[in-house]
Amino acid sequence: MLKNTSSETEVKILRTRITLACTECKQRNYSTTKDKKVMPDRMEIKKYCKFCKAHTLHKETK
Ligand SMILES: [Zn+2]
Repeated sequence: MLKNTSSETEVKILRTRITLACTECKQRNYSTTKDKKVMPDRMEIKKYCKFCKAHTLHKETK
């Protein structure tokens, strides 16, 4: 007797994988995760860009 085993309770992962791209050169330098509940908006963070060789603003991208 084959029964559809769809009763497994999957825990919803709220952490979303995001990529941070440099706003100066558009290079995707960092990938991280964020909690969508804590940060529903696009993340912006100052990080070192090895292409610009400086700390630049990195924005969340898809
Ligand atoms: Zn850059």
